[in-house]
Amino acid sequence: MIKTIGVLTSGGDAPGMNAAIRAVTRAAIAQGLQVKAIYRGYKGLIDGEVKSFTSQDVSGIIQRGGTILKSARCMEFMTPEGRKQAHKVIQKEKIDALVVIGGDGTFTGGRLFAQEYDIPVIGLPGTIDNDLWGTDATIGYDTSLGTITECIDKLRDTATSHERVFLVEVMGRDAGFLTLNAAIAGGCEAAIIPERAQVKEQIEEAIGSGKRKTKSSSIVLVQEHAVEGGAATVAKMIEKIHPEFSTRVTVLGHLQRGGSPSAYDRILASRMGVAAVQALLDGQRNVMVGIQNDDIVLIPLSKAIHQKKDVKEDSWQALLTLSI
Ligand code: ATP
Repeated sequence: MIKTIGVLTSGGDAPGMNAAIRAVTRAAIAQGLQVKAIYRGYKGLIDGEVKSFTSQDVSGIIQRGGTILKSARCMEFMTPEGRKQAHKVIQKEKIDALVVIGGDGTFTGGRLFAQEYDIPVIGLPGTIDNDLWGTDATIGYDTSLGTITECIDKLRDTATSHERVFLVEVMGRDAGFLTLNAAIAGGCEAAIIPERAQVKEQIEEAIGSGKRKTKSSSIVLVQEHAVEGGAATVAKMIEKIHPEFSTRVTVLGHLQRGGSPSAYDRILASRMGVAAVQALLDGQRNVMVGIQNDDIVLIPLSKAIHQKKDVKEDSWQALLTLSI
């Protein structure tokens, strides 16, 4: 029987993680359970950085970006010895189940731990990359998309004032969701993404002399890992093919992670947090809470981690069609 739930955030931080921590904590307390907050992800689990949480501990955080529990990348948890130490802390703290908020690395670690020590683990998808299979959206994605779009709007003002091609480097690990959808939202000329790495063709389409004449500005988004060297490499390619254009590179970097979560991310995190607690009470284990067509779904962690989510073909086509 589950009496105490442990909750942690791990991997890269994402806006809305705090809303998820709040939801898990309050939903658990509402069900008469205890909550133990674990600081610094799996590192804190190994080091015993654990604190009992009350409802008040999560007040005033729903609107805050980042994570009050801190996040960390922890190599030690990737070793059997590290996980053994983590299990000792679980026993000492009498934690019966874990809710882990993070991305695929976090889920991989959680799943391994669950298998080795027979502890129920529920994953909440907390990553700006939106790269987890089985969920339409991840916590933090919508906010990040909004931030990137706002940056593009600002760059557009300068871009229209000069004969320059602006290249904007966008985060996303191995996935192009942020880049493609921000390109659509920002009315960009092209998006270089790992899923459709037609770099030269896109450059030609977007800024090749024919079309370029009808355009007053060009903004091309480049996913950080679509091309080795990112936006700087694409800038060099453009200047080589079209020496008549000068390029400017903007790397958005960690700006994309910060800020107050959007209403959508707060609602998503709240619904998912409540669903995670309910799933544990229903006897579920080793699943990710996802959202599909606005319905909460439970997806085996193995599928969420291993299946590849592709960008939508119609989105890709929309960008190509609308960037004429
Ligand atoms: P994001 O997508 O935002 O980067 P993430 O959860 O994928 O988030 P990672 O750094 O890949 O971020 O993973 C977070 C932590 O999960 C790692 O620091 C490590 O402690 C644990 N982890 C990752 N992979 C494994 C693994 N194969 N075995 C055990 N633990 C792992």
